[in-house]
Amino acid sequence: MLNLKQIEFCLEKIGDMFPHAECELVHSNPFELVVAVALSAQCTDALVNRVTKTLFQKYKRPEDYLAVSLEELQQDIKSIGLYRNKAKNIQKLSEMIIEDYGGEVPKDRDELVKLPGVGRKTANVVVSVAFGVPAIAVDTHVERVSKRLGICRWKDSVLEVEKTLMRKVPKEDWSVTHHRLIFFGRYHCKAQSPRCAECPLLSLCREGQKREKKGLVKR
Ligand code: SF4
Repeated sequence: MLNLKQIEFCLEKIGDMFPHAECELVHSNPFELVVAVALSAQCTDALVNRVTKTLFQKYKRPEDYLAVSLEELQQDIKSIGLYRNKAKNIQKLSEMIIEDYGGEVPKDRDELVKLPGVGRKTANVVVSVAFGVPAIAVDTHVERVSKRLGICRWKDSVLEVEKTLMRKVPKEDWSVTHHRLIFFGRYHCKAQSPRCAECPLLSLCREGQKREKKGLVKR
């Protein structure tokens, strides 16, 4: 496992590689971000952005999602996986935002997770990106990279990964670390073919070292 100094070194290097890492879901207010994140489950940000480009012209406020039938909303997002369920959740969360939160997206993570289709990861993204609250949302990239590097244990649950990162990374760096780990996992330390040969972290990385021993790191 990496010690704190080594973790700091890794995060610095990752920051050098992806200095402009940020949320890739296009949105112009917290509500659009909630909808975009709700649509993004098991689906790429690029596809979500293609759909929301027109969706957000038609639907601007929670009321707009309730002014159409479920079938119409489903049609409008049908190129996205799990669209039937996602449309239901978007209508339900719109209703809750109007009835329970006066039409505004709640700023508190514990309130956000009460919205249908909004889990802990989504809530962390929303508080961090929309409201500037330090948070680390653990998605598949964050989890994989943290485990490969040895910041977390292989057997850790998603929640344990989040808690370990919160313990080992200074609070003021949580949000930026979250975005950088996502970019690093998405574009460099990919699930199927991590680019270990040109990785500045190879000498420290337990997964990279394992792959090197097996002759899988081709220079
Ligand atoms: S050495 Fe390989 S597995 Fe380790 S962080 Fe770099 S790309 Fe990922």
